[in-house]
Amino acid sequence: MARKTIVEDCDILVVGGGMAGTGATFEARHWGRDLKIICVEKANIDRSGAVAQGLYAINCYMGMQWGENQPEDHVRYARNDLMGLVREDLGYDMARHVDSTVHMFDEWGLPMMKNKETGRYQREGKWQIMIHGESYKPIVAEAAKKSADKIYNRIMITHLLMDETKENRVGGAVGFNMRTGDYYVFRAKTVIVAAGGASHIFKPRAVGEGMGRTWYAPWSNGSAYALPIEAGAKMTQMENRIVLCRFKDGYGPVGAYFLHLKTYTQNAKGENYEKKWYDKTTYVMGSHATCSGAWVSGPEDIAPPEYFWGYNRMTTVEGLFGAGDTVGGSAHKFSSGSFTEGRLAAKAAVKYIEEEKAKDINVSDKQCEDFKDIIFKPLENYTVGRNEITGGTVSPSYISPIQGLQRLQKIMDEYVGGISYNYMTNENTLKRGLELLDWLQEDLEKVGAEDYHQLMRAWELKHRTLTSQCVTEHTLFRQETRWPGYYYRGDYMKLDDENWHCLTLSRRDPKTGKFTMEKAPVYHIVDEKEKKEAS
Ligand SMILES: Cc1cc2nc3c(=O)[nH]c(=O)nc-3n(C[C@H](O)[C@H](O)[C@H](O)COP(=O)(O)OP(=O)(O)OC[C@H]3O[C@@H](n4cnc5c(N)ncnc54)[C@H](O)[C@@H]3O)c2cc1C
Repeated sequence: MARKTIVEDCDILVVGGGMAGTGATFEARHWGRDLKIICVEKANIDRSGAVAQGLYAINCYMGMQWGENQPEDHVRYARNDLMGLVREDLGYDMARHVDSTVHMFDEWGLPMMKNKETGRYQREGKWQIMIHGESYKPIVAEAAKKSADKIYNRIMITHLLMDETKENRVGGAVGFNMRTGDYYVFRAKTVIVAAGGASHIFKPRAVGEGMGRTWYAPWSNGSAYALPIEAGAKMTQMENRIVLCRFKDGYGPVGAYFLHLKTYTQNAKGENYEKKWYDKTTYVMGSHATCSGAWVSGPEDIAPPEYFWGYNRMTTVEGLFGAGDTVGGSAHKFSSGSFTEGRLAAKAAVKYIEEEKAKDINVSDKQCEDFKDIIFKPLENYTVGRNEITGGTVSPSYISPIQGLQRLQKIMDEYVGGISYNYMTNENTLKRGLELLDWLQEDLEKVGAEDYHQLMRAWELKHRTLTSQCVTEHTLFRQETRWPGYYYRGDYMKLDDENWHCLTLSRRDPKTGKFTMEKAPVYHIVDEKEKKEAS
C-alpha cells in the first residue's frame, strides 16, 4: 500500500508534550526567537502524560523567597532518599530554578491555594504546595502551543534519526500518526526527548481485567529510555526502579488524601499501622523518587568535569537532550521540576545551535525509507498471518501486542525480581532473564498489529522490552542491595558502600545490540565544602 510521508525540517524537535516537553517548547521560543520549534506528542498535549487528569499538589517548590527551603535542602533530601546516589549538580540546578516555574504557573492562571494567615502558597508537607489542579495540563499546554511553530498530536515517535556526516550526532526522529497511518519524518538539528517514564515492564499486582490500574500512568511506555538507548546514549541507575506502596484494591489520588485531608491507612485490624510501627522502621522511602534515565551533562558552573561535556542536559549523543523522567541521576523533580528541566534543556539546545554545533547534518532519504519499512511491519505481519487462523485469536505466525506484553511481564516478574518473587532476584535468574529477553526481542519481529492503535501498542511493547533489557543489565551489574523494598539481590543482601557507592552506567552498542557497563563516581557537592572546612 502506498503510504503518505510527511517531512518536516526544524531546529528543535521536542518528543513528548508532557510536563518536561511543554517546558522545553516554551523555553526554546524564549531563547530561540527565530528557530523552528516542533513538539510531537503521542496523545494530545491538552491531556497527556502523567499529569493528564490534573494534580492536587505541586510536589516540588522551594519557597526561597520566604526562606522556607533552599536548593541545598532539596539536594540533601533527594540524596538521603536515594541512599546517597544522586547527581547533585542536576538536582541543585533544577531546585534553584523551580520556584520561577511555579510563579509562572500562578501567572498563567493555575489556581493556587493560599495560606490565609501568611498569604503564602499553602504548604502540606515540606516540599508540596496545594493547587486546584484539574486544568494544570491544559494550562501548560497552552504555553507550549503559543510557543511552538507546530504541535503534532497523535504521533508516536518510534526511532531517532542519526546524522550521517558526524558519528554519534542526532539528526531527528521518525514516527507515525495513529489516526491516519501517515509516516512522519522530522529532520532536526537538536532533539529533546521528554517522553515520560516506564510503567508495566513488571507484572502489576492487579492482573487480567485490572492490569491497567497501576499507579504510574499506564501510557508511560519507556520511549523516554528506549529512544536514547537505541541511539547509543549512556544510561544511568536503570536498576533504580520504584514500587509504589499505596493501599490494597484501590486506586486514587492518595497523595492528596494523606496530605490535605489528613487521612491515614489501616491494616486489617483497623490499626494505624504506620504510627504504630513508626519507631521500628529504619528506612522508608518517601514519595515517588527514582533516578533511572539518560546520563546527561550537568550545568557548567557546578558540574564536576566527569559530569560536564558542554551543554546542560545533553546526553552522550551529540545534539540529543533529555528532560523530566528521561534524565537519570536526579530524583524528586515531579511536575514543576520536570517542566523546569525541560526549560533548562531547551536553553542549552538553543545554545548548541547558536554555537554552530549542528552544522551540516545529513540524514539520507534511505535512512528514512528504511525506518518506514520497519515501523509498519507489524501491520503486514498481521495481514499475512491472520489467514492462518481458523478459529480464536492465536496465530502460529505472529504474537499480538498484549500477548507480548504478558510475556515481557512474566520474564521481568520471575527473573528480575517482581512482585510474585517478593522483589527477590540473583545473578542466575538475571542471566536467564537476559536470555529470555533476547528471545523475546527476536520474536517481536513477528508482532502483529490489526490497526494503527495496535501498531502503537506494538511499538510501546518494543520500547518497554528494550528498557527492560537495560534494567536487567543494570540490576545484574550492581552487586548489592541498595534499595531494600524496591528489590533485593538474594546473592548480595547487604549494602556495600565500599564497592558500590557509585552510579552505574550502561551503553548499548547500536550495531551489535550488546550492553557494556561501567561505574561513575558520586560527587557530594552540597555540604562538601563545609565538611572539608570542619576537618
Ligand atoms: C499518578 C501520578 C500522580 C502524580 N502526582 C503528582 C503530584 O501530585 N504533584 C507533582 O508535582 N507531581 C506528581 N506526579 C509526577 C509528575 O506527574 C511527573 O513527574 C511529570 O509528569 C514527569 O514529566 P515528564 O514530562 O517527564 O513525563 P510526562 O508528563 O508523563 O510526559 C511524557 C509525554 O510524552 C508522551 N510520549 C510518550 N512516548 C511518546 C512517544 N514515543 N512519542 C511521542 N510522545 C510520547 C506522553 O504521551 C506524555 O505526554 C505524579 C505522577 C503520577 C503518575
